[in-house]
This record gives sequence, structure tokens and C-alpha cells, in this order.
Amino acid sequence: MQCPLCGHPKTHKHGKTSKGSQRYRCPHCHQTFSETFDTLHYRRQISSETIQTILQSHAEGSSLRGLSRITGVAYNTCVSVIRSASHKAQMIHNQDVHAVSTNVINADELWSFVKKSKSTVNQKN
Ligand SMILES: [Zn+2]
Repeated sequence: MQCPLCGHPKTHKHGKTSKGSQRYRCPHCHQTFSETFDTLHYRRQISSETIQTILQSHAEGSSLRGLSRITGVAYNTCVSVIRSASHKAQMIHNQDVHAVSTNVINADELWSFVKKSKSTVNQKN
């Protein structure tokens, strides 16, 4: 197994975690990590199916409270899973998309906010 922290190709088994999964130790950087390191399962006790449901429902526009109710997972865990997945996706994007040369830019959406007039504010109140 390759070390996810320094990239050293050979790591050694280093006991088990309290939950019973294998721990590893890198002889190069002396760090320890488990099999789930750098995955959405790391330090979370939820199944792959639940993670998939959370991410898919979130992509389809479900509310976070609704997700928590449907899956039976705590609200903060739902938020944490989505944040982690989003961060991971951003990292993959940043790694793969470099120096894109363009001649034409197509702006699908362009939003601007100029000013809210006083009369609009007064109408609502
Ligand atoms: Zn290492």
C-alpha cells in the first residue's frame, strides 16, 4: 500500500483501529493511517449506500434537513459528507484542469446587482 501522505511505495501494517480496520505506518514519514484515509468513510460510521443517497439527493436539490430525515443520519454528518465530497471534487478539478487556452468565452449566466431602490424597500414593509 502506498503512503497517502508522502507517496512512499511500501508501508507496514501497524495494528488495528478501535473499530477493527487495519492501520498502517509509513517507514519514510513515520505517519500512521487507516485503509479509509482520504475517503468519505474516514472517521465516519456510515455505509457507502447512505453516502451515495446523501450525495445523489443533494445533487437533485433535496434540503439538508430532508436528507437527514430520509437517511437517519445526523444533520451535521450530512453537511460534513457533502462538504468533503465537494472539496475532493474541487481538488480533482484543480489537478486536471490546467492552462486551458481559449479564444472565445461563452458566458451562460451573468448576474449583476446594481441597487435596490428605496421605493421597493418601502413597498415590502
Ligand atoms: Zn509516508
